Amino acid sequence: MSRKLRAHHGMCLSFFEGKGYSHDFTAHMQRIWEEMRENPSLILAADADIICGQCPNLKKGICVSQDKVEKYDRQVLDLCGLSEREEITWEDFSLLVKEKIIRAGRRNEICGDCQWTEICRSKEKKI
Ligand code: SF4
Repeated sequence: MSRKLRAHHGMCLSFFEGKGYSHDFTAHMQRIWEEMRENPSLILAADADIICGQCPNLKKGICVSQDKVEKYDRQVLDLCGLSEREEITWEDFSLLVKEKIIRAGRRNEICGDCQWTEICRSKEKKI
């Protein structure tokens, strides 16, 4: 069964190094990351997804920064030539994110105001 992934999390997962808002959130993200190998089928989204479930910023099913992160999602979808609710495998999606955004030097214009941006910036050249 396909699982819902908000589009900008395709970037976050490309940089994930076991850091996050809390121990529970980080462990949850790690588990999702590992499960993607077994079940890579995704439905792309611009709202709360499988990763958001353990995030302390999710209140009543909606991110407290929904407007900001939805903008990230829509920019990722546009740059990758994809649509909300489109089904894709993690392999194909992560390749598009790497080629069209990270290696193309477009990541900072999407999420340069995220609190984790310095971590991701320091890893961009290695992706
Ligand atoms: S800067 Fe933030 S939103 Fe952008 S890839 Fe890194 S963790 Fe994700």
